Amino acid sequence: MVTGMPNTANTGQDEHERQGLPYQEPLRTWAGRGSGALCNLCGHVIKAQDIEYEIDVPPADSGRSLRFHFNCYRTWEAQRRDQG
Ligand SMILES: [Zn+2]
Repeated sequence: MVTGMPNTANTGQDEHERQGLPYQEPLRTWAGRGSGALCNLCGHVIKAQDIEYEIDVPPADSGRSLRFHFNCYRTWEAQRRDQG
């Protein structure tokens, strides 16, 4: 039987996933209040009082998206520009 666990988005929280961050140009970027998801960069929870950045990365049909704290987003963005 299912327990009362909230069915949050798949956070892909293993080390491999975090180190293998994609650095493509995002298809879509938007910011909002933290949803309690894990940040794809630092692996910490993005709390409701934090700004959460959500980024869709190509290919579009993979449905892959990344979530970052505001500061982590800026770090990722800087690294992306560095690589690109
Ligand atoms: Zn973070």
